[in-house]
Amino acid sequence: MPGSAQRPLLFLDVDGPLIPFGAAPQPYPTYPTGTEPLDAPANPLLTRINPEHGPRLAALPCEVVWATTWMADANECIAPRIGLPPLAVVIWPEPTDVDAQDERDGLHWKTRALVEWAAGRPFAWVDDEVTDTDRAWVASHHPADALLHRVDPRHGLTDGDYAALDSWLGQLP
Ligand SMILES: [Mg+2]
Repeated sequence: MPGSAQRPLLFLDVDGPLIPFGAAPQPYPTYPTGTEPLDAPANPLLTRINPEHGPRLAALPCEVVWATTWMADANECIAPRIGLPPLAVVIWPEPTDVDAQDERDGLHWKTRALVEWAAGRPFAWVDDEVTDTDRAWVASHHPADALLHRVDPRHGLTDGDYAALDSWLGQLP
């Protein structure tokens, strides 16, 4: 049984994969749970998160890491409402001139930071904004396997997305 340091990572974006958006005009189903801390600012988007994502993510053979602008708020506001323990959080570096050039090149602003965070461990990255530019950059800068999996933000994570992740994780050496 490999230790947790050997497990593949799953970098998880929130806006798009967990909080669907953009499929106006029909309203999204909501899942109010009332588990937020009483002093948390009300964020109606949180009720769009289907609590079934928690157990489904926890069942995947990987370590889930928050890779979102929610940063520490993801552990405060999202993990409890879907039944996940506090997870590791990617802290984004301050933008630099390199990032400005990346933006011109079409590289996502998260890509470099995630490859650095992975430090050679295999990873899946689940996000509604990944492109082939990011896939190519990761392929040439990351020594281990990587799956950059785009989620349709109008639907959030679907059965098909989970199947793709499960299949990819299952074929890792
Ligand atoms: Mg997103």
